[in-house]
Amino acid sequence: MSLFKRLILKRSLVSLSAAAILFGCFDISTLKAAGSSTPQAADSIKSPNSQSDVFTSRKELYEQMSAVTGIPWFRLAAIDQYERTIAKKSKESPPDPGRLTGITIPAPVWCGPLNPDQDDKSAASISFFHGFGRDGSGDGMADPNNDIDLLYSMASHLMRYGNSPSDFSIATWEYYHYGRASLRITQFANLYEHFGQLDLSGNAFPLPLGKIYSYRSTWGTGRSWGGARIHEGTDLFTPHGMTVRSTCYGIVETKGWNRYGGWRVGIRDIDNRYHYYAHLAGYEKSLTQGMIVKPGQTIGWVGSSGYGKPGTQGKFPPHLHYGIYRDRGIIEWAFDPYPLLKQWENGERRALKKHK
Ligand SMILES: [Zn+2]
Repeated sequence: MSLFKRLILKRSLVSLSAAAILFGCFDISTLKAAGSSTPQAADSIKSPNSQSDVFTSRKELYEQMSAVTGIPWFRLAAIDQYERTIAKKSKESPPDPGRLTGITIPAPVWCGPLNPDQDDKSAASISFFHGFGRDGSGDGMADPNNDIDLLYSMASHLMRYGNSPSDFSIATWEYYHYGRASLRITQFANLYEHFGQLDLSGNAFPLPLGKIYSYRSTWGTGRSWGGARIHEGTDLFTPHGMTVRSTCYGIVETKGWNRYGGWRVGIRDIDNRYHYYAHLAGYEKSLTQGMIVKPGQTIGWVGSSGYGKPGTQGKFPPHLHYGIYRDRGIIEWAFDPYPLLKQWENGERRALKKHK
């Protein structure tokens, strides 16, 4: 406890709610009331268990932890989101369904590798064995299934490195020892900071509606060029020069020439999906790596580039090749974007009708 008390004395500006977290007066159940099925909660909440309630509760939790520790809310949110999007190893138990956060910390890390009790929840003995676990809720317990203890433990780790973006990258590298994890978390933190919200779920169709285009499901069909590869995506045929738009909120991860894809763009979204746009004629001129985009924002123009050395064009009819890859931590795989394209096209068409 002394660590937390010292912390509070140091931070004279600590808010009441933040103090409440540390002294255990903060009741996580009030945050979770929206997701609760008790009659009492159902009476007071209009739309129980909705996704927006979860976002609201999570953001409150990050902000309160931020007030106590000085770690910006969007960095806590980014780590939490990264963990939510990667596959959990089968050996580890999934997070308690009642939890708001998605972070799981392996027992030897939480309790300390030499701790004889790998279910240890005593903050004092975990500290003795140099475990990662800390008590954020002020009950003397460091419980890996308690959102506040978990976030406080993660924030304590980050606090040892400092508050600049590069300190944050080093801190996540030191925790995961995995460059891709560190990169993803930085991307997510940038997205959250830029938009100031957790809900980044909107989508758009990659081509402007009302223009001439055609596409069909071609998942897994053979390709004519580049050897035995399956077709990982959907081809949207449309005239040369048609606008290509981002389908998601995301950050530009790759831009440039690729032997197969020609001039292409890769955009990472907050669900750890990589949206791949290939065979472009050119890029929207402000587009740069690391830039943040919104659904419907112009990123380039349809062309027929690719299948050769930089600048090769016209080896096939102009079209947009659109693919989606999901990062599960160690592996990244493609999935069929066709059903999503249909869904986004229909969604936009309905929205356009409504506004007519
Ligand atoms: Zn294609």
